[in-house]
Amino acid sequence: MTTQRAPAARALEELRGWHEKLRAQFPILTGHPELAYLDSAATSQKPEAVLDAVREYLTTSNANAGRGTYPWANRTTELMSETRRRIKEFLHDPDPERSGVHLTGGTTEGLRTVARDWLAPRLADGDEIVVPFADHEANLRPWLEVGELLARQGVRVRVRALPTQESSGEYDMAELARLVTPRTRLVAATHVHHVYGADMDVRRLRAAVGPGVPICLDAAQSVGHLPVSMAELDVDFAVFSGHKALALPGSGAVWARNARGPAFAPGGWDGSPNTTGAVALCAALDWLDAADTARVERWTRALAARLTDGLRRLPAYEVLGCPRSLAADSPMAGRQGIVTFRHRRIASGDLGFVLFHEGFMVRSDSLCQGGAGERQHSVRVSLHVYNSPEEVTRLLGALASLG
Ligand code: PMP
Repeated sequence: MTTQRAPAARALEELRGWHEKLRAQFPILTGHPELAYLDSAATSQKPEAVLDAVREYLTTSNANAGRGTYPWANRTTELMSETRRRIKEFLHDPDPERSGVHLTGGTTEGLRTVARDWLAPRLADGDEIVVPFADHEANLRPWLEVGELLARQGVRVRVRALPTQESSGEYDMAELARLVTPRTRLVAATHVHHVYGADMDVRRLRAAVGPGVPICLDAAQSVGHLPVSMAELDVDFAVFSGHKALALPGSGAVWARNARGPAFAPGGWDGSPNTTGAVALCAALDWLDAADTARVERWTRALAARLTDGLRRLPAYEVLGCPRSLAADSPMAGRQGIVTFRHRRIASGDLGFVLFHEGFMVRSDSLCQGGAGERQHSVRVSLHVYNSPEEVTRLLGALASLG
């Protein structure tokens, strides 16, 4: 009989050689062995292959895209379309002829573009949208802004909160099904929660909202961390940031299925695109596919399970959210590579400060959660393929020593 400890321990054992080979490809980490970078939900570190691709591009064919007809300009334009094609492939797009990819500066910009350029022109007085008030601000503000903009023009849009279960932060699908009306024009949701690390079980959204309502998914914490398949998820938009997926800051994309409502076509004059961002994103997706995102997911979930279980043995700490994953070294249902916790007596800001002095880079504030205030500060550890079991063990030792 397998013990409860098996899944995480087995994953860490089986994938150790794989992980070590990959970790060695991150110069910033090999250059600072005394530090543990545990803030990948904020931004990821970059492998050599991404740095090389950027250098190769800038030293061989740097030019503007979509302008000019000389070879460097043509190659740059091709690289941009190759990145869009690569994103569709990476997301297992079932109908790449119909879908579209719009390159953006990141998730926030992408969600705002969907809200402003696709949703706003379609909204009429009395329409409704459902948005996640307990998720990242980036997936709340753009929708609220659209409501405010239209209100100034006399169009009243009802913004309703995507129902969540108070204790866990999970979406309440039954309640959502009751909330949807013939006037519902969009449901916005999040794939993996950036505070609780919960996989929000978004496969169930379609059944809850019915066949006709567009769904916009914030995939900032899933793309690059686990396999994300548009063939499996019946959503209409998937929006993510390149910098969280091993690529450069200021890059990202909106993927649009273009099957419900008009095709997504961002308005206006875009200006010169972020060419190096696109080159880096393409290289990062190649790297992730070669590394195998299913293994990345297995590894980071195993690390998160080890950390969660260790924290639960320390009575001074409280792990937040996601009770589905809180059984002892659980089968890890529901928890991705993010663990957020509090010390029962030490303020989270102080804890973050102390941890940095021990060499751990963690996040400790309100974590950009919609509606979260000072009182809800906590410490977040977020993991990627380059993090090691030893880092987690060391962190648990440091946390234990604080009593
Ligand atoms: N959504 C989620 C779930 C996130 O975690 C983040 C970044 N922390 C964002 C959106 C915003 O991403 P960006 O800052 O790259 O626009």
